[in-house]
Amino acid sequence: MNPETEASAARLFFALWLPPEVARTLYTQAGGIVGKSGGKLIREEFLHLTLAFLGEVPELRLPELQAIAASLELPRVPVRLDRLGFWKHNHIVWAGCGETAPELSALAGKLQRALVPAGFLDAERAVTPHVTLLRKAAHPGELPALPAQEWTAGEFVLARSWRTDRGSTYEPVARWPLH
Ligand code: NAP
Repeated sequence: MNPETEASAARLFFALWLPPEVARTLYTQAGGIVGKSGGKLIREEFLHLTLAFLGEVPELRLPELQAIAASLELPRVPVRLDRLGFWKHNHIVWAGCGETAPELSALAGKLQRALVPAGFLDAERAVTPHVTLLRKAAHPGELPALPAQEWTAGEFVLARSWRTDRGSTYEPVARWPLH
């Protein structure tokens, strides 16, 4: 790949990062599953819940994107993760919730709608809130119960994802408070 082309675009997404104690609990749970499912554990400090996936964005447009994010008045949201699951289609073991809080869907929707006019997103897409714990997993069989993990998200993060020889790396680029 041409290094100049590679350097000129960033693979970006907006997300809620997990509080450290929640990340620890989920990482520990995933550690107990990987023996059955195989796959790759997502590192504890990378665990997040995606609100909007932008894909490749020219780096030159980062200031414009950050200005849009900074202009938003988005509310704090309750998050509850109370179940583990497996998706066959993308071989992911995840933590999610039986019922999505309407506030969380509303937050993702409001953020996404703000990104459409400038072309950072083609259209708003419904989010199925989840935290990916394991990638490239086989069916794990019956999953253990997840003691409910609940918190109020107080900020949202713009993050960049990189592919490295050792798997993906997620690097927070900027963060803004939820009010
Ligand atoms: P990624 O694809 O950059 O994803 C980062 C975050 O965005 C994850 O939370 C992911 O959700 C979410 N996301 C990705 N595509 C989405 C979409 N179309 N709609 C909604 N949300 C989306 O992260 P990754 O861990 O590096 O890679 C995941 C897969 O993409 C791997 O199979 C990888 O090979 C492939 N991929 C990665 C890169 C890279 O540079 N990181 C480049 C090309 C392809 P989930 O956690 O549910 O996936």
